[in-house]
Amino acid sequence: MITEMLTRWQTTPADWQHELRQAIRDPMQLLQLLDLSPSQLAQPLVLKPGFALRVPRSYVARMRKGDPDDPLLRQVLPVTEEQRQLPTFNLDPTGDKLAEKVPNLLAKYSGRVLLIVTGACAIHCRYCFRQHYNYSATSSLLAAVEFIRADSSIGEVILSGGDPLTWTDNRLAELFHQLAQIPHLQRLRLHTRLPIVLPQRVTHELLNGLTQTRLQPIMVVHTNHANEIDESVGYGLQRLVAAGVTVLNQSVLLRGVNDNAAHLINLSEMLFNYRVLPYYLHRLDRVQGSTHFEVSKAAALHLLEQMRIALPGYLVPRLVQEVAGMAYKQPIL
Ligand SMILES: *Cc1c(COP(=O)(O)O)cnc(C)c1O
Ligand code: SF4
Repeated sequence: MITEMLTRWQTTPADWQHELRQAIRDPMQLLQLLDLSPSQLAQPLVLKPGFALRVPRSYVARMRKGDPDDPLLRQVLPVTEEQRQLPTFNLDPTGDKLAEKVPNLLAKYSGRVLLIVTGACAIHCRYCFRQHYNYSATSSLLAAVEFIRADSSIGEVILSGGDPLTWTDNRLAELFHQLAQIPHLQRLRLHTRLPIVLPQRVTHELLNGLTQTRLQPIMVVHTNHANEIDESVGYGLQRLVAAGVTVLNQSVLLRGVNDNAAHLINLSEMLFNYRVLPYYLHRLDRVQGSTHFEVSKAAALHLLEQMRIALPGYLVPRLVQEVAGMAYKQPIL
């Protein structure tokens, strides 16, 4: 069945770059595509010039038409609730800027560092904890690569952003090559939402780049709801796994999107249909503009309990929250 799909669907770099440029940026156009009118929304739309609507068309195609509460729509539609301010919600909830040792490199945890390779994303998730991040003036990774070279305790590099897969395959391959020349590095991890929101991104060239480096490739994708995984997403995930990439998923627990045990259980099962293991279920990082997505700790623990009852242990994600200054992401207890 896989070979049949392979011949049926060959994707080229031009395809995903075209799709990226064609992303919907106008809320009214998005509503129109979904047969919705603004009066059907529980909340009025809001314009957010600094972090405007952005959503790829193939992701829109996975939304239910005529449903203002669709879990995918809720993740991307800017509504007035975002203007609500609370003192506990701020611009940099995870203390990222303090952890930036040299431009574009965050060092928080032992043995691994995170590279902010870009501020660009294919989609703008309304709850994104880096939506106000003050990206470095330079996009150069020179100092970052030198930092890694000089510290032999670093065994793993995590490419993040923004979304590292907005880079072209050539540019990524060049970076992989540079990193592979650092003898103490063992693992190369990518944190990305592109294989989910723009599945054409999983090109042959990307698979080659990831598997032709001596570094062990890991990809942590970001899915919050089983409706995000259609046949083409599943096919991309399967190809990554078949190529030898360890693929894990992280989700953010979001009110009105996935704060439902049946949905979370379904997501774990669906991921594993494509051999992807659930890794983290994050409690929301308290970033300004996201108050309406928060799920209480008690509700989160209750959901986790229901997942534990229904699923084998390996399909239960770790429920965590990032606390600035701590040595690892904190389990919710
Ligand atoms: C989340 C994060 C990591 C990765 O943590 P793991 O627990 O290994 O997944 C690394 N660096 C930074 C700065 C992070 O925010
Ligand atoms: S894809 Fe990730 S980094 Fe980009 S907006 Fe969404 S949550 Fe933020």
